[in-house]
Amino acid sequence: MDGDFPADEVSLNHTNGHTQTSILGAGLNRLARNLWWTWNQEAQAVFEELSPHSWRYFQHNPVEVMLEVSAAELRVRLKDPIFAAKVKSVLEAFDVYMAEVQTWGRENAPSLAERPVAYFSAEFGFHESLPIAAGGLGILSADHAKSASDLGLGFVGLGLFYREGYFRQSINHENWQVETNTLLDPKRLPLEPVVDESGAPVIASMYLALGAIKFRAWRLNVGRIPIFLIDTDLPENEGPARDLTRHVYGGDSTNRVMQELLLGIGGVRLLRTMGIEPSVFHMNEGHAAFLTLELIREKLAAGMTFETAMAATREECVFTTHTPVEAGHDRFNPDLLEYAAAKFLRPFKKYRKEVIGLGRVNPDDDNEPFCMTVLALKTARAANGVSELHGRVSRSMWRCLWPDKDEDEVPIGSITNGVHLLSWSTPTTWDFWKRRGGADWPDRADSEEFWARAEDPSFVSDEEIWALRYVLRRKLIEFCRHRLYIQNGRFGPGGYLPSDVVLDPAALTIGFGRRAATYKRATLLFSDMSAIVELAKDANRPVQFIFSGKAHPRDDEGKRLIQKVIHLSKHSPLADSLIFVENYDVEVARAMVSGCDVWLNVPRRPLEASGTSGMKGAAHGTLNLSIMDGWWREVCDGANGFAIGDDSHPDDPDEQDRRDAAELLRVLSEEVVPAFYDRDAAGIPRRWIQMIRRSMAGLSPRYNTRRMVREYVEKVYLPPLH
Ligand SMILES: *Cc1c(COP(=O)(O)O)cnc(C)c1O
Repeated sequence: MDGDFPADEVSLNHTNGHTQTSILGAGLNRLARNLWWTWNQEAQAVFEELSPHSWRYFQHNPVEVMLEVSAAELRVRLKDPIFAAKVKSVLEAFDVYMAEVQTWGRENAPSLAERPVAYFSAEFGFHESLPIAAGGLGILSADHAKSASDLGLGFVGLGLFYREGYFRQSINHENWQVETNTLLDPKRLPLEPVVDESGAPVIASMYLALGAIKFRAWRLNVGRIPIFLIDTDLPENEGPARDLTRHVYGGDSTNRVMQELLLGIGGVRLLRTMGIEPSVFHMNEGHAAFLTLELIREKLAAGMTFETAMAATREECVFTTHTPVEAGHDRFNPDLLEYAAAKFLRPFKKYRKEVIGLGRVNPDDDNEPFCMTVLALKTARAANGVSELHGRVSRSMWRCLWPDKDEDEVPIGSITNGVHLLSWSTPTTWDFWKRRGGADWPDRADSEEFWARAEDPSFVSDEEIWALRYVLRRKLIEFCRHRLYIQNGRFGPGGYLPSDVVLDPAALTIGFGRRAATYKRATLLFSDMSAIVELAKDANRPVQFIFSGKAHPRDDEGKRLIQKVIHLSKHSPLADSLIFVENYDVEVARAMVSGCDVWLNVPRRPLEASGTSGMKGAAHGTLNLSIMDGWWREVCDGANGFAIGDDSHPDDPDEQDRRDAAELLRVLSEEVVPAFYDRDAAGIPRRWIQMIRRSMAGLSPRYNTRRMVREYVEKVYLPPLH
């Protein structure tokens, strides 16, 4: 596929025309295989220009574009000096990024350069073209890795390569979610096989149940850091073993426990095979916690006692919990674990009770299931929740493990989540800030100084911000109409209204995009239908709603929530002002968080550990309207967005639902709608724009993963001083 282009790193300053063309061609092939392009709009524009149709058709996948465009075509296209100049400038920016040595990480965490952080996560949601994440956890892992690269940290990621990815959602005649899976082809993705010195693919193995399973790994380049994705789809394996990594959290609990054994134990094995010696093992959520058993096993094999091995393992491991719901923590029947890990556990024979006890609050209670969070908490030297409130909830939930401590002494801290801001930019927003902030604005896009200027009218005027909002809203509406057009084509008459009459490019647009989990209360807005219809249908102050979200394939309750929203979008007075967009993924999320005026978040408190989607909108001028849960209660000051309720909640969930539904309607009609439609003679909503400025200046520099990863380095990654 590289044609006759040398895959080398020759300087771009060659002037010989033919050489330059080959270097640029080789550079594009190199760039297509490093996800750095996911946070650089100019790189994306180059691939789009090469083949606009493939770019759209293949979910913006540059590897597909490079496969589509022949070497001969590429050579001709690169003879166009204007296009060549664009390519050259992108490749220069890429090379500068890759070669940077004076990084924050080098200065502040040099020890990690030698012995990196190994970050284990069951999902990574880097981009719509690589759909191997189920939701927010995966998005967070990916954004974490991108910022680790930006900071120049010693860092590697470990995950699973799900051959069928996460499902694509479509909606059938009964408004019921239908799941379809497509096979991902590593050759058409930015993945390369992990190979040994001789260039042969590395095949590692481990015991599962009573046999051995073989696995290989794919390397994904994320800027300066690698992510290794484990894959059991090898001819050497039996059918069921080959299918182990087929689906994200696929199958029953046997499949799940085996996937988690593979991630944890296989991940450590793989690192050892590659000669990577991490100083920190970061378990991102309990799924990865079996890695600690492998670390203990290695130490037992080296002759340590169980107690010493356990203590030494604790020094290496850190843990982030994401789940404030008791039932959300992975728990396995100990018999199942002993079956799935039968042969692996043999060296632990003498310590059977101790090992099973690591997953129990009360090691002596034979009826207690094996809990991955308990295992992680018992084997990590540092643990944290993902917002201040979630830290508090976690300390209360797990105080049982430290019965002699007061709740506030339970050693679970908190580091509030963030998002990788540039990855959530759009071409419009990128150009908008570049024209004002200068060509190097991407280097400063996480900084206090950059965003402070959003409050300065001489840097960016009200008129410019308002024009930006119009462009982004229109883009979202056109995106939705196009999606609807495709959906309508599938159903014929009887579906939605014709796609060209829904949604109004000038109306206040409220977005709700998230997994259809019950606690997120997707239908809270419709608790009082006549009130919301009256509010939305005011001819002078119209309000419209865009919904999207997937339910877990086995979550019928979640699917019913989706069904209800779609039903209302077709058969209620809201029919032209409420739509449901199929297949919520990174692409839909990016369109929605940038195009909506208001991002709605109504979880049952305190169940949204942090939430991150609301952080993605600030740089686009989207305002948050949210329950005071997770991250939002830390930053909402009444002038940078809207609060539903206060920093408390009734214990009774029904009462909470009633209170929040009423409060949501009140805030919408008394605060949100009036502020949006309060226009001056020039038609500009000054008050609204003032809030946008406050939101940009207050949210973006703090709720990003650069700040978050720095906190991880300072609070947990760097070895504690003894
Ligand atoms: C950001 C994002 C999430 C997480 O959103 P929450 O606010 O945590 O619910 C989930 N899915 C996708 C596709 C996202 O982009």
